[in-house]
Amino acid sequence: MRIVIVGGVAGGASAAARARRLSEDAEIVVFERGPDVSLASCGLPYYIGGTITDRTKLLAATPDRLRNRFRLDVRTGTAVESIDRSAKTVTVREMRSGRVYQHPYDKLILAPGAAPMRPPIPGIDHPAVHTLRNLHDVDRILSRLDAGARRAVVVGAGFIGLEMAENLVQRGIATALVELQDQVLPPLDPEMTAPILESLRSHGVTVVLSQSAEQFEPSGDGVKVVLKSGERMPADLVMLCIGVRPENRLAVDAGLAVGARGGVQVNEHLQSSDPDIYAVGDVIEVRDVVTGEPSQIPLAGPANRQGRLAADHIFGRAARFRGAQGTAIVGVFERTAAMTGASEKTLRRLQRPFRKAYVHPGHHAGYYPGAEAMAIKILFEPDTGKLLGAQIVGGAGVDKRIDILSVAIQAGMTVFDLEEMELAYAPQYGSAKDPINMVGFVAAGLIRGDHPQCDVESLLAMPPEVRPALVDVRTPQEFAAGRIPGAINIPVDELRSRLGELRRDRRWAAYCQAGQRGYIATRILRQRGFDVVNVGGGFRTYRMHFPDAD
Ligand code: FAD
Repeated sequence: MRIVIVGGVAGGASAAARARRLSEDAEIVVFERGPDVSLASCGLPYYIGGTITDRTKLLAATPDRLRNRFRLDVRTGTAVESIDRSAKTVTVREMRSGRVYQHPYDKLILAPGAAPMRPPIPGIDHPAVHTLRNLHDVDRILSRLDAGARRAVVVGAGFIGLEMAENLVQRGIATALVELQDQVLPPLDPEMTAPILESLRSHGVTVVLSQSAEQFEPSGDGVKVVLKSGERMPADLVMLCIGVRPENRLAVDAGLAVGARGGVQVNEHLQSSDPDIYAVGDVIEVRDVVTGEPSQIPLAGPANRQGRLAADHIFGRAARFRGAQGTAIVGVFERTAAMTGASEKTLRRLQRPFRKAYVHPGHHAGYYPGAEAMAIKILFEPDTGKLLGAQIVGGAGVDKRIDILSVAIQAGMTVFDLEEMELAYAPQYGSAKDPINMVGFVAAGLIRGDHPQCDVESLLAMPPEVRPALVDVRTPQEFAAGRIPGAINIPVDELRSRLGELRRDRRWAAYCQAGQRGYIATRILRQRGFDVVNVGGGFRTYRMHFPDAD
């Protein structure tokens, strides 16, 4: 069996190593255009920022190691230029010598990844304007920084844009972040990103939302980033982090089917429209397991697993890729944001019915020092409670909870399963009622009708004449420090004795800080005959929706 692999990083290197583990006899050739294989792309921002200091650590394996341990024929500096499907050969070019030759295959695996987008913005080729994908990019960026760059503009506030902003700040660079949408981290729902925005600003990052870079105007050694508003932001370094596009040229030229967003279309075995050509990683279109829609999910985990599965299938195993759900996490200074499955935005776009629940627990027991708050949002089917998506923002413990929720979605679990979930507990790690149980209690209570609830944003969007009156059941001190406009304050512990202050001929919405006292108040008032709902997630969720309100 002659296996040829195009691209030697996440998907390609995984496929090659797995193929060798399955067959000592196969001839396995990996063509990699760049100088490195098995590059840890995800570590690059942290090498630029100085957290990772040893460059060699970014290379999980060298070509020599792949040759010696796996007897792989790794040809770096060699680009595959075309595929002849009828002859079953690829044409390759050695970058340094210019030598061009054909190489035969029985099975071809395409793992060329995705390239950073570089739209035709005037001035984009100025030496101050950079993208980040490999060590060559890193070297160019570092030489710019070492030459005295002091001001940076990062265009795009997605995962890589945020990581770059943080790492530039770590290096003492005055950093601005420009984002087209009206929020940072556009894959998440806007309210869940409020703590990240606050964190960026508190570390001195100038964040400009709802703006696009229209031009890079030369200015001294650097540029002025001209925004749509006309504002000009001076920069010695511009990082363009506005997304990636699949490197599909080989596939398109070979007549393989690609999807609307350019991803190579594959079946569940990762075979393209030509069954002898597999495709894995950022270059492919995958099925989103929650929405069922075709999607581009450029993440390292799926790429690695797909490489392995493609090799399994080539060697006759019944390997199937079941799709992806976009489980992702990012650290921004002291905060962490993570998501899995569908967002509220996506469910609304697809007009898919859903309900949602918010909780704001500590990451471990409150009585043990150092508990850090997190906000969890889950989305679920209104009738069955089946989980559709989750987002978490906080500090410690976010990683563990998002992975639990990711697995729950993969297993088709419901909010009732979250209530029952058995999780490890000692005070420094979690709570006897873990945040996962808590969000399950709230969501399951909603479905059971124990716990009538409303969303703060829908509540405040109601015309005043139909909007329920607000009763804030926190302490007077909490109330004085900030409240939802129009609320009256009756602390939950005084509620039973002050019922006379609440009119019975109108609807009420009770809220507290995070939802739990509001829930207790709702239970008290309903049993006394009041028409009342709890404001989901309480004042903390209100603050996430309306961070600039008084
Ligand atoms: P790649 O890793 O891009 O590898 C493709 C390789 O193919 C490249 O080396 C390229 O040179 C080579 N190639 C392309 N065309 C040819 C050709 N014609 N001939 C020969 N070789 C070719 N994902 C996460 O899950 N978590 C993270 O924290 C994270 N952080 C990231 C940070 C950065 C800065 C970047 C750039 C990416 C990050 N990612 C992260 C995404 C992750 O790195 C990718 O999803 C993953 O590397 C995709 O693997 P791949 O094998 O499809 O493509």
